[in-house]
Amino acid sequence: MKKRNETKKVCIGRVQVGGQHKIVIQTMAKNRAKHIKEALKEINTYATEGAEMIRFSVLDDADALAFKTLKAQTDVPLIADIHYNHRLALMAIEAGVDKIRINPGNINDQEKVKAIVEKAKAFQIPIRLGINLGSLEKNAEKAYGKTAKAMVESAKTYVEFFESLDFYDIVISLKASDVATTIEAYSLAAEIFDYPLHLGITEAGPTYQGTIKSAAALGALIYQGIGDTIRISLSGDRLDELKACKTLLAAFDLYKHPTLISCPTCGRLAYEMGPIITEIEQYLENHPTDLKVAIMGCSVNGPGEAQDADIGIAGGKNEALLFIKGKIVKKIKEDEIIKTLIDAIERYDKS
Ligand code: SF4
Repeated sequence: MKKRNETKKVCIGRVQVGGQHKIVIQTMAKNRAKHIKEALKEINTYATEGAEMIRFSVLDDADALAFKTLKAQTDVPLIADIHYNHRLALMAIEAGVDKIRINPGNINDQEKVKAIVEKAKAFQIPIRLGINLGSLEKNAEKAYGKTAKAMVESAKTYVEFFESLDFYDIVISLKASDVATTIEAYSLAAEIFDYPLHLGITEAGPTYQGTIKSAAALGALIYQGIGDTIRISLSGDRLDELKACKTLLAAFDLYKHPTLISCPTCGRLAYEMGPIITEIEQYLENHPTDLKVAIMGCSVNGPGEAQDADIGIAGGKNEALLFIKGKIVKKIKEDEIIKTLIDAIERYDKS
C-alpha cells in the first residue's frame, strides 16, 4: 500500500482534513436542516456511529438559517449542500455552517459563484467543489465528453477561478456512478491537485450493490494513497453507510475497528458456527479496539488462522480450541464458545 498523499490542510469546524491526517468519514442527513429536532437526532446518532461531519441539503431559506440553531447545539461539523441558488449558500455561511458544497456548473453564473467564494473567505470556511459526471463545466464537456478527464478539467477551471480570488480552502470531489470512471478521475486529480479529495461514488445503489461498488472504487484509490474524506452513499440505512466506511478503512488499517475473521465453512464444519458468528459480530460492532478475532470451522485449516489472530477458536466435534496470541489456552465445549470468547475479549482489552 502506498503512503498517503500529502494534501493541503483544510479545517472543517473542529475537524482537519488533508495534510496526511486520517481519512475522515462523512455522511448526509435524510432530514431537512430546518426540522431541528429530527436533524439534531440524526447528527447525534451518526456522530456516535463514526460520522465526523454531516451534510445537509439546503432547499430554502429556513434550511439555510437553521444552521444557526443547529450549531448552537452541536460541535459536529456541518456542511450545507447547495444547488442552483447561490443566495442560500450566502445565508448558510452567515448562519455558521462549517463548509459549503457547491457545483459551480449548477449555479452557472460567475458573479454568483464569486459572491459565495468571497463570503466563505470572509467567514474562513472551506468550499467543496463537487463535480458530478452529470453536470460538467460546459467547455470541458465539449472537449472531452462525459469522461473522467472532463470531470478533472471542470474541477481545474473552477479551482483556477477560486485561486484567482485568492481562495484556497478547497476540497474536491469527482463523482461518477461507475467504478472505472471514479478511479480514473480521482487518480488524475491526485496528480494535478494538492487539495484534499473527498471520495465517493454517486448513486452507488442499494446496500449490497452500493457497498461493493464503493469498496471497489474507494479501496483502489485508498490503496494508492488517495483520499482525505469518504462517504459511501447507499439507498438505505445511514448506519450501514457508516459501518461500510469503518470496515473499509479498517481493512487498510486506517481505522481502529475490530476484525472478525471467519471461514466460509465447508463439509468439514464440525459444529454450529453461524449463530456464534452473528453474536460475536454484533458484540464487536461497538467495541473500540482493533482486535482480530478468528472463528474457524474445523481442526484441519482452523488452527492456522486462529493462531494468527489475537483471539481465535478452531472448532472440533462438539468442542473447540481457544487460542490467545497464537497459543492454545484450553478446550471448550460447543455451548460455551460465545461466553468464553466474550470473556477472552474483555480480558484481552483490560490487559
Ligand atoms: S476452516 Fe475447516 S470448515 Fe472452515 S472452510 Fe476451512 S476446511 Fe472448511
